[in-house]
Amino acid sequence: MKALVKKLPQEGLWLEEVPVPEIAPHEVLIKTKKTSICGTDLHIYKWDDWARKTIPVPMVVGHEFVGEIAKVGHEVTHLKVGDRVSGEGHLTCGTCYQCLTGKRHLCPNTQGVGVNRHGCFAEYFHIPAENVFLLSPSIPDDIASILDPLGNAAHTALSFSLIGEDVLITGAGPIGIMSVAIAKKAGARKIVITDRNPYRLELAVKMGATHAINIEKTSLSEAVKSMNLYGGFSVGFEMSGHPSGLNSQLEEAQTGGKIALLGIFPQQCTIDMDLIIFKMLNIKGIYGREIFNTWYQMIHMIESGLDVAPIITHRFPVAEFQKGFECMKAGNCGKVILDWA
Ligand SMILES: [Zn+2]
Repeated sequence: MKALVKKLPQEGLWLEEVPVPEIAPHEVLIKTKKTSICGTDLHIYKWDDWARKTIPVPMVVGHEFVGEIAKVGHEVTHLKVGDRVSGEGHLTCGTCYQCLTGKRHLCPNTQGVGVNRHGCFAEYFHIPAENVFLLSPSIPDDIASILDPLGNAAHTALSFSLIGEDVLITGAGPIGIMSVAIAKKAGARKIVITDRNPYRLELAVKMGATHAINIEKTSLSEAVKSMNLYGGFSVGFEMSGHPSGLNSQLEEAQTGGKIALLGIFPQQCTIDMDLIIFKMLNIKGIYGREIFNTWYQMIHMIESGLDVAPIITHRFPVAEFQKGFECMKAGNCGKVILDWA
């Protein structure tokens, strides 16, 4: 079968012939229909410091997918061949304190599909049946292929009540932009997003941002003066993974503000702790999705009107994967889908 493989420890990915994987009794084999490219895949493509110390080579990459079950292990009873599925890319151990107390998303032994073990950028791949999410017919394939990052956005955005709140989102990557649509759906008043990329700021406006601020041209602290906030933002989502994004969140938060952090910082990051202490801020780290609470929340939001379709801006057959990665590198895109049909 065809698969996108990190074959060599250098920039790039390779479309290779590899064997169809064997499945264990508790696993399913999935025939891939569509996959979408994550920022994580771009790190792996570029072979940056994080990728060098994390990714085994050779390895099939990718973790955002929609597909159809092609085979089920003999211990699997709730899924059958032909079921249309997506799935949770965080494989949890099932035996630790967190797993046994119903908090799989907090499992310290989590393995990432397409990060720590082979991924879904292949005609077929396998995952444990307990990671499969059965799709309702209401979710089109394109949207199903982005449920993983939409789940990151939902997990972050729904960490705090948003009804009538003024929200600051630092970082207009695809997840930041999807969190705009969720904040709007959840009833936020002002939804302010910052970035340096005009294409993505425009997309954020299309998806419901009340203010999109290009921090290359406009100072956020100047821009907020005309927004009639009560001393700052009541809720923040840090999506940029950039120290200036986090510092903006701390500076622009109102007293008692709540900030959820999803962006991953490349290095240690210096902040003014006094802002947290004297403003009595509430800060929460986010990683992945709640399994499967977040998944049901997204499906129910989509079924009740959340429209995230505009975030999908590019589609390529897998043979043209290089074009997809070039788009992602340039940044003039939302989500980029690779078609395996
Ligand atoms: Zn565990």
